[in-house]
Amino acid sequence: MATDRCTSCNGTLAETGATQFKCPECSSVVSRCYRCREQSIAYECRKCGFRGP
Ligand SMILES: [Zn+2]
Ligand SMILES: [Zn+2]
Repeated sequence: MATDRCTSCNGTLAETGATQFKCPECSSVVSRCYRCREQSIAYECRKCGFRGP
């Protein structure tokens, strides 16, 4: 398994507190690290380019 990376900052999701959810547009998995979640940085889906909070 490849290491998951944060969709927002491209950092590895080694720390706890990372979150994963499905893109509402294309259902591909979007991952966000603890830091980006705390700062409410918007994610951008790599497949379809959807942006969301
Ligand atoms: Zn991040
Ligand atoms: Zn998508």
